[in-house]
Amino acid sequence: MKTIRIETTNHAYPVLIGSKIINQLPKLLIQTGISQKTKILIISDENVAPLYLQVVVDQLNKFDAISYVVPAGDVSKAIGEVEKIITYAIQHGLDRSSVILALGGGVIGDLAGFVASIYMRGIRYVQCPTTILAHDSSVGGKVGINHALGKNLIGSFYQPQFVLYDTSFLTTLPTREVRSGLVEVLKHGLIADRQFVDWLEKNADSLLHLDQEAVSYALKQGIKIKADIVMEDEKEQGIRAILNFGHTLGHVIETLSNYQYLHGEAVAIGMFFAAKLAAKLGWLSKEEEAFYQHLLQKFKCKTSIPKEYDTNQMMNIMLRDKKFKNGQIRMVLPIAIGQVKIEQNIDPKFIFETLNELKR
Ligand code: ADP
Ligand code: ZN
Repeated sequence: MKTIRIETTNHAYPVLIGSKIINQLPKLLIQTGISQKTKILIISDENVAPLYLQVVVDQLNKFDAISYVVPAGDVSKAIGEVEKIITYAIQHGLDRSSVILALGGGVIGDLAGFVASIYMRGIRYVQCPTTILAHDSSVGGKVGINHALGKNLIGSFYQPQFVLYDTSFLTTLPTREVRSGLVEVLKHGLIADRQFVDWLEKNADSLLHLDQEAVSYALKQGIKIKADIVMEDEKEQGIRAILNFGHTLGHVIETLSNYQYLHGEAVAIGMFFAAKLAAKLGWLSKEEEAFYQHLLQKFKCKTSIPKEYDTNQMMNIMLRDKKFKNGQIRMVLPIAIGQVKIEQNIDPKFIFETLNELKR
């Protein structure tokens, strides 16, 4: 089992990663000061619950645990769902000392964490992530839901008591979800750690097959990189922006495809776009650009933009992105493998050209 300690200004908590470590849950709860008298509300979704809810409930047989299951997917990150959960919590007597346990992917982490952050002005919560992608959202304390007018517009910063990552839960993930999640791990390497990128390149097949040792190591490294960046910049004033690497175009592709592209699938294209643009600006060599393509292909990712997407429309959506400042195109671009920088002043002409070159 691997443990990483995450420290924020006013809270520190551990992330534990390993195969078949769900049996550590009772001990961890007790160590965190959560006694067996504490009421625990497990929140999960309709895909995860049939697979793992009973496993978790069994671990909590000495505790006072209840559960609430929401539909799978982003639709559950909604104010209506929050209200239903809160009603259920009130009816079942959850009080200020109760605990919420998030059992699921990023959607459940965001939703359950958000409910915990507002229920009776905030109660404690713990996280058991069941997707690879959730390694990203489980660090940094961002919790929240969507509004009809946009994603993640309602939320807060709220930290869990601990994160327990049982990698054996990942073995039931659909293949596309595995690949998509691994892209976010790749991103963490590509922005900050050349050695880790080389390791990922060598271990692509083991990771795609969910080799438990390899996955534990990859999640640990990804979480470490993210944690270091977030600890330096908790409220997203500066350096944290590099975590958006690949996401500007990624969001455009998610939007234009009506979310037919999974998050990681879209981010992979976004990262390759950034690499190509950087190569055009002379910051990345042709070999490095080729390495990007090779690496993404090894992880079975597409690197082209659907040819029917209108380039002007893509540019317009990028300009509306909340990460853009004063109408300037601000992007995270690689300057080497494992290193990126934030650039404020990119000539839109280069962006337009590069988008066109990526269309297939
Ligand atoms: P994310 O990919 O952001 O972590 P989701 O919570 O949307 O977010 O999870 C992606 C999909 O995978 C959802 O349909 C979810 O129900 C499903 N899922 C999550 N974890 C597992 C798992 N361990 N096994 C099978 N399906 C899972
Ligand atoms: Zn992301």
